[in-house]
Amino acid sequence: MSLIMLLGPPGSGKGEQCARLAKLGWETVSTGQLLRQAAASDNEVGRAVKALLNTGSLVPDEHVLQLLREHLAQTHHKKLILDGFPRTLSQVHSMSALGLMPNKLFVMVIPDDVILQRLCGRWVEPKSGRVYHDLYHPPRVPGLDDLTGDPLHRRDDDHPDIIRARLAIYHKTVEEMLGFYAHHQQRHELLITYLDATDSIDSVHTALCAML
Ligand code: AMP
Repeated sequence: MSLIMLLGPPGSGKGEQCARLAKLGWETVSTGQLLRQAAASDNEVGRAVKALLNTGSLVPDEHVLQLLREHLAQTHHKKLILDGFPRTLSQVHSMSALGLMPNKLFVMVIPDDVILQRLCGRWVEPKSGRVYHDLYHPPRVPGLDDLTGDPLHRRDDDHPDIIRARLAIYHKTVEEMLGFYAHHQQRHELLITYLDATDSIDSVHTALCAML
């Protein structure tokens, strides 16, 4: 199986890149998306997950790993992208137990102020995860999904204070993970590619495809 990991702060365009790669036969697993689906359930776990998502905090590994394990059990894809996982060093260490041995790591690099500007205008179609933006990618009809016509939502965690909290968590954890993966790169077990995520979606996609 080919397995790639896409790492980047919230709003760096990971979802858009996954959507492009899906058209080339890659399947995406987004832990954020799995958690948002879980949060929509009216049960104890759903409520606990929702409360954490709303503050921008990381969800405990036990819930993330459980959802991921269940999802992977239904996946028999040969080309898989992980979006938003692993997010901590402990999740990095859980990967082999889940049967996940990544070949390539892509890191989306982008300044925090650009992220804030991007996320404050973002709209999402909750069922598919399709993303729109007031400035960069407005829907054809304001507030409605282009394909289904369903209403678009703002994510509860796309508010400036929560975005800052999510960025702080990202910067803290990403350094640890990159330190760990740098050793693997030195031993030629993993290829790490840094992408300039301030570029257009097309340019990032082209750069990414060149390294697949
Ligand atoms: P994302 O859609 O990747 O921006 O994730 C949205 C939110 O889901 C994050 O701010 C976290 O609260 C939670 N989340 C997503 N992936 C993970 C993960 N691997 N570990 C813990 N929490 C996660």
